[in-house]
Amino acid sequence: MKKSLFFLLLVLFGSWVAAQPMQWPQHKQAAIVLTYDDALLSQLNIAVPQLERAGLKATFFLTSDLDYRTLPRWREVAEKGFELGNHTLYHPCVSTTDNPVSSADYTPYLMVREIEVMNWLLYAIDGRMTRTFAYPCTDTTAAGKSYVDTLRHYKSVKYARLGGDEQTAVITDFAHLDSLRVPSLGLEDSSSADMLIRFVKTVQQRGGLGIIMFHGIGGDYITTSAAVHQQLLDYLVENKRSIWVPTFQEAMDYVMQRRAMH
Ligand SMILES: [Zn+2]
Repeated sequence: MKKSLFFLLLVLFGSWVAAQPMQWPQHKQAAIVLTYDDALLSQLNIAVPQLERAGLKATFFLTSDLDYRTLPRWREVAEKGFELGNHTLYHPCVSTTDNPVSSADYTPYLMVREIEVMNWLLYAIDGRMTRTFAYPCTDTTAAGKSYVDTLRHYKSVKYARLGGDEQTAVITDFAHLDSLRVPSLGLEDSSSADMLIRFVKTVQQRGGLGIIMFHGIGGDYITTSAAVHQQLLDYLVENKRSIWVPTFQEAMDYVMQRRAMH
């Protein structure tokens, strides 16, 4: 009887620890991470200048879709303190409608090798050794097999971002967060400022971490208009005393360090 009471207390204590809200730096309420995929020109032309004017950091997940004109510009972006993340070389996906390379011809090992080659390409751009990753098309499989554990085994990347929606992308259960399956809010074409700010407010209310996945900003595809993007940045700046806006790697480093302390 005593033993079962002990275990009950242990379980209760465990869930109490898991339910403790994250204590963000400088007593902030929540953390919001802005991420941008596919190395798009509209990100260089519109998103980066808007972020710079707002004084906010962000993470750009690049593919090898780079050339002699854009590569030096991404290097400048990195020098300004933005994070360059890995999004594979060729963006292999199940669907080839918008993606020329099909992941059906890959193996988990081949996928991870490609990610490692992209790591070195990014190293040549910004000189950094630790890298975060975003799954192309938010798909964690190669020819139907998950490559998450292969990625984990080879320690190719430190953290990896998945997809998600307005509910699943509000991260509050940090005790069970898998560093290679971090959800994010994947946007549709023409998202509204209302929806984006509503998401941020939910993350604030719940004291969590919210990651937003953008593609085009005022151009390209899956486009968020420049005006809507600016409205979101304005909200983040107006609320900077309560919202922390780090890069993906900074946010995850903080979360993992806090978790290790418990
Ligand atoms: Zn992508």
